[in-house]
Amino acid sequence: MIGQNPIFIPGPTNIPDQLRNAMNVQSSDHRAPDFVEIFAPVLKDLKKIFKTKTAKTIIFPASGTGGWEAAIANTLSVGDKVLIARYGMFSHRWIDLCQRHGLEVEIIECEWGTGAPADLFAQRLEQDKNHEIKAVLVTHNETATGVKSDIGKTRQAIDSANHPALLYVDCVSSLASMDFQMDKWSVDIAISGSQKGFMLTAGLAILAVSPKAIEIGRSANLPRTFFDFTDMLIANKNGGFPYTPPLQLIHGLSAALKIINDEGLENVFTRHYRLAQGVREAAKAWNMKLCAKTPDLYSDSISAIYVPNGFNSDELTNLAYDKYNVSFGIGLGEMAGKAFRIGHLGALTDVMVLSGLATIEMAMTDLNYPIELGAGVSAAQEYFRNSTKIIKSEA
Ligand SMILES: *Cc1c(COP(=O)(O)O)cnc(C)c1O
Repeated sequence: MIGQNPIFIPGPTNIPDQLRNAMNVQSSDHRAPDFVEIFAPVLKDLKKIFKTKTAKTIIFPASGTGGWEAAIANTLSVGDKVLIARYGMFSHRWIDLCQRHGLEVEIIECEWGTGAPADLFAQRLEQDKNHEIKAVLVTHNETATGVKSDIGKTRQAIDSANHPALLYVDCVSSLASMDFQMDKWSVDIAISGSQKGFMLTAGLAILAVSPKAIEIGRSANLPRTFFDFTDMLIANKNGGFPYTPPLQLIHGLSAALKIINDEGLENVFTRHYRLAQGVREAAKAWNMKLCAKTPDLYSDSISAIYVPNGFNSDELTNLAYDKYNVSFGIGLGEMAGKAFRIGHLGALTDVMVLSGLATIEMAMTDLNYPIELGAGVSAAQEYFRNSTKIIKSEA
């Protein structure tokens, strides 16, 4: 095939050549000192991405789902109660995982397109005088709806109820794309993965775990072996791994951290905001609504966009793929057929985003959508021309 188009699904994301090359390394002995040299700085530098000084960073050979499982299995016991709000496919899947682990899951149902309900969390936690709820679980960026939740407010809700519950946050599709502040928000376990903001293949579950969660975990009885924090931390202490590490991905992560550091983490966030804003301008020009209900909920890594009544979003994404060879995210769960998603996270530029908008516009026009060909691209172009690229250099 001549040329390769970028993908616009919200993970896995486009892999820069630099990272593909970084992963192209021969096998080597993970018990030799050169493994420690590559691995120890990765664990240390990850802390800057989570914005934590106190947490331990942990990497498992798994996808984000494995990270959810590790968080639960290491810190909770059968029958423990957890509180979680459902507002999209990913929060839904985390609920399912908790239920299958024998936890008692108390669910707050929220309309899709909204985010974590801090006020309802506060209410429920205040009622829980015996402190039966052991943890509150929140999806920071709901990838199904393109909704970003306010984690600081969730923390305030827990504190205002004077409740000791731990706070676990899924930041798989936000970390290294949108601001995440583990220490400031007193997050106890943050869970991410390699294939979104880190621009790599899937294969690493990347976690940060607070000292409190590690301590509480010592008396938790859910079974864990592969995902055991203690085994991992003992091995990590000397720069090692408790079993065979995914060496190539660790090389990739090392290079990804360098790329992010060179751009400057805050600049990475600014770039994601810009790209997202360009997409939002395009949606406005098409007269289409985002699933996220209000601007404070808009995600900078993914936009879920409703197609007009009478149109099927699956037909749109299928046509974009079949005719133009470009992948967009489909509508998930409740939004199947009603919305498509544009992933705008990871290694993307203005120019790449414009190509995605141009492609989906062609597919829309092919399907007789009530849009003017070029309207979305033009709106995004105007935005990109007039907005500032870089706020400050951290290099
Ligand atoms: C991608 C994603 C996950 C993890 O999915 P995996 O396919 O297991 O990596 C979890 N939560 C959110 C919000 C995600 O976007």
